[in-house]
Amino acid sequence: MSEAVRAVLCEIQTVEDMVAAFGDEQQCRRLLEAMVWPKGRICPACGYKRSIAIAGRDMGRRRARPGLYQCSGGECRFQFTATTHTPLHSTKLPLSTWLKALWLMLQSDKGLSSVRLAEALGVSQPTAWRMGHALRLMVAREMPLGGTVEIDELYLDGRPEPKTDAPPPGRGRKGQRRTTKAPVLAMVQRPSAITIGTPAGDARARVVDDLSVIEAERVLEKEVKPEAHLMSDEWKAFIAVGQGFAAHDTVQHSRREYVRGRVHANSAEGFNSRVRRTIAGVFHHISPEHADLYFHEIGFRWSQRIVIGQATRRTRHGREIAASWRKRTKQRNVVACT
Ligand SMILES: [Zn+2]
Repeated sequence: MSEAVRAVLCEIQTVEDMVAAFGDEQQCRRLLEAMVWPKGRICPACGYKRSIAIAGRDMGRRRARPGLYQCSGGECRFQFTATTHTPLHSTKLPLSTWLKALWLMLQSDKGLSSVRLAEALGVSQPTAWRMGHALRLMVAREMPLGGTVEIDELYLDGRPEPKTDAPPPGRGRKGQRRTTKAPVLAMVQRPSAITIGTPAGDARARVVDDLSVIEAERVLEKEVKPEAHLMSDEWKAFIAVGQGFAAHDTVQHSRREYVRGRVHANSAEGFNSRVRRTIAGVFHHISPEHADLYFHEIGFRWSQRIVIGQATRRTRHGREIAASWRKRTKQRNVVACT
C-alpha cells in the first residue's frame, strides 16, 4: 500500500494542509480507505472484490458503525472496515490521530521518538510506542528489489570494538568479527535514472544471525529479484551469494577502491549511515527484535525522495563528483550521490 500512502501524503505539505486534510473523521476514513484499497475495496477475509456499504444501517439492536462493509462473496459475508486485519485492527483511537502520527513520522528527518510523538498527539507514551510500531508495519514494502541493487553490512550499535579486558581476541567464525552486536544486511535499489523527478529506489535492511553465506542467501532470496545486478564490497559471503544473480560487481575496499565507474556501494553506505544516525539521534537504542520495524520506517523515508537536479561537488581530495539533489517533500532538499 505504500505507493498509495506516498500519493496521499505528498499532497500534504504544511501543518495547515495537514489540519485541513485530517480535520474530520469522515475525511480521514476516506483517506485511509484510499491508502488501504488503492484499487478498490477487497474483502480481507476472502479477497473478493465486491462488497456493499452497510454503515448507518439498522442491524437489529444497533446501527452499523461508520465505514462498515459486507463482503458480497457467496459464502463469506464478512463484515469489515479499512482497519480490519491491518496493524490498526480494532483501534480505539480516532483515525485522525493515526494519520497525524503517520504524517509527523514521515515529515521528520530521522523519525520521532515515542515520547515526542506522545506529546504532539496528546496520547500516553506507551500508546505512542505501539502506534509507532503499527505505522512502521503499515509502510513496510513487499515488492522485491530489482535493477541495480547495492548491498552492504553494518552492526547495530556501531562498529564492534576490541575490549581491553576481554580474553585473547581470536578470530570470529570464518574470519568474522567476534562480537555480540547484531549484524544487519542493507539493500538499496538505485534510482532508474538521474533525471529530474525520478523517485529514489527502495531501500531495506534486515537483522541477520551472522554475515555468513547462508544468512545472506536467506535474506537476498526474499528481498532481491534474481535478475538484479548486485553491487557490493568484497565480503566473502557477498561474492558467493552474488553468483545466484544476473550480475555482480564488487569494489575492493581493502585496496582503497571505493568507486570504479558505475561500480560502487555508496548508496547502500549512505543508507547505512542514515540508519546509524537515526538510531543515535532519535531512538538511542533499538533492540534487534524490533530493528526490522525501524528499518521499514527509515527505508520508506529514503524512498520518498526524488531527484530534483544535478550539482557538482568536490571530495575532500578536490576530485569533482556529480551529486543529485533529491527532495523528500517540497520544502526540503537532500544531497545524495548516485
Ligand atoms: Zn469475503
